[in-house]
Amino acid sequence: MVDYTASPLLELSNVHCCYGGTTAVYQLSLRVMPGQIACLLGPSGCGKTTTLRAIAGFEPLCNGEIRVRGEPLSVPGYVMPPEKRRMGMVFQDYALFPHLNIYDNITFGLRKLSRRDRRRRADELLELVDLQGYGERFPHELSGGQQQRVSLARAVAPQPQLVLLDEPFSNLDVELRERLSREFHDIFRDQQITAILVTHDQHEAFAMADEIGLMRDGRIVQWDTPFNLYHEPADRFAAEFIGQGSMISGTLIDGERIQTSLGTLRGSHGFPWPAGTRVDVLLRPDDVRMGEAPSGLYGRVVKKAFKGAETLYTLRTPDGVELLALAPSHSDYDVGDDVGLTMDTEHLVAFPADGEVQAA
Ligand code: ATP
Repeated sequence: MVDYTASPLLELSNVHCCYGGTTAVYQLSLRVMPGQIACLLGPSGCGKTTTLRAIAGFEPLCNGEIRVRGEPLSVPGYVMPPEKRRMGMVFQDYALFPHLNIYDNITFGLRKLSRRDRRRRADELLELVDLQGYGERFPHELSGGQQQRVSLARAVAPQPQLVLLDEPFSNLDVELRERLSREFHDIFRDQQITAILVTHDQHEAFAMADEIGLMRDGRIVQWDTPFNLYHEPADRFAAEFIGQGSMISGTLIDGERIQTSLGTLRGSHGFPWPAGTRVDVLLRPDDVRMGEAPSGLYGRVVKKAFKGAETLYTLRTPDGVELLALAPSHSDYDVGDDVGLTMDTEHLVAFPADGEVQAA
C-alpha cells in the first residue's frame, strides 16, 4: 500500500515548459509518493511527454521547480543532468541495443559491478519479468511484448529512484497491452517501485495507476484516483474524456434534487448552484439499471453491443432521451424491447448547462 502521509518522492511546483513562444506545460504542480504508480493521461498534444521529459532532465523548465525527496533536480539556477537523476526509462519503441544480447542490454547501466554480479542481477531481473533463459538472445529474436519486458528489466536494473514510462504499450495489440500493464503493475507493487506512466489510453491508466493526472492543454485538470476520475469527474472535459455516459438536461430544484425528463434525480453530494439553474447530468452506463421500473420509467432498446461478460445497451425513453446501460450479458434483451429503468444516483454528477453561471 502507498503511504500517503509520507513525504513525497517527487514534487513538481508550478512547472512551465516552453518551445519557442509556445507554452506546452503550464503551471503544473504534482506530487508522487514513494511506491506510488502515477499516470499522466490525456489527449494527444496535452503535454504528457514534455512533463515526463522535464522530470527526466531532457527538457528545460522556463519556470517552476522539480525536486526528488526535497533535493533539487531543476530549480532556478541549478539543473541536475539526466544521467545523475537515477531514473529508469521505458519507451514505446523499447529502445533496446540491437547489437547487444539481452544480458548485455539489461546490465548496460551496471558497468561498475563485477561480471559475476552483473550476471546474477540480470538473472534475477529475467526471472522478475518472466524471461528466464532468454539472456543469450538478441532483441530481434524476441516478440514486442518480450522486448518491452526486457526494457523494463533494463530500466529497473540500477535500482532507480523513479521509473518513467512513455506510452510503453502503444506498439502492442490490445490483449497484450492489457496483460503487460497488469504484469508491470504487479512488478512495481511487489518491488515497491515508484513509477510515472504516460498514456492516452484510460484502460491502461486504470489498470496501472494509484492516481491519475488528467491533462488538457498543458495543465492538470484533475489529479485523482481512477475511481474518482470515473465517478466524480471535476469538469465536463473529464466527464467526456473518461469512460462512456449520457448527458441528460435538467433543472436544479434545490441543492440536492434535479428535475429531468427521467424524473427527479437526487444526488448525495449536493450542488452549489441556485435553484432554477439549468444543468447537464452525467449518467454512466453502470448507473442505469435495466429490469424493474418502480417509478414507471421505460426505455426501448435501440442498439446492443455484446462485450463478453456484459452487454452495452443504447435505450431511448418515450421523451427521446438516449441512455447507455450495462447489463450482465445473460440478461439478453433484444432491439425493440421495452425495458424498465432505474437510476443509481449515488455518484450523480452535474455541470451547469452552456450559458449558466459556473459558480454559486
Ligand atoms: P502525444 O500523446 O501525442 O505524445 P503529449 O501529450 O505527450 O502528446 P507533448 O509531446 O508533450 O504532448 O507536446 C505538448 C505540446 O508541445 C504540443 O502542442 C506539441 O506540438 C508541442 N511540442 C512538443 N515537442 C515540441 C518541440 N520539440 N518543439 C516545438 N513544440 C513541441
